[in-house]
Amino acid sequence: MKTVLIAEDNPVNRELLRELLEARGYSVSEACNGQEALEKIDEVKPDILLVDIGMPVLDGYGFVRKFRENPKWQGLPVLAVTAYAMQGDKQKILDAGFDGYLSKPIDSVPLEKELARLLA
Ligand SMILES: [Mg+2]
Repeated sequence: MKTVLIAEDNPVNRELLRELLEARGYSVSEACNGQEALEKIDEVKPDILLVDIGMPVLDGYGFVRKFRENPKWQGLPVLAVTAYAMQGDKQKILDAGFDGYLSKPIDSVPLEKELARLLA
């Protein structure tokens, strides 16, 4: 079973993502912001991370910068999840160090496609 660590500050969105992922056979752990996600990685040992961009304490950009600075997490894929679905943001997100991008509201088709691509 593959494990997904979700970093998302909105509890409704966290629950929605958990349901989508568990229904597809993933094990799910949750963090409420980027800092909590960083602290949970070694304990949870996720196969992939789904990280919201807009979060308090440490947002998605701050998270991915610190995450990529740590060589022990090299090769671990990180997908951005964001409501900022504007042209141009995708390139900014990829340039920041994310491996892919999902726009809210999360749709199961691109979610599955991105998970399959990054976990292959
Ligand atoms: Mg948010």
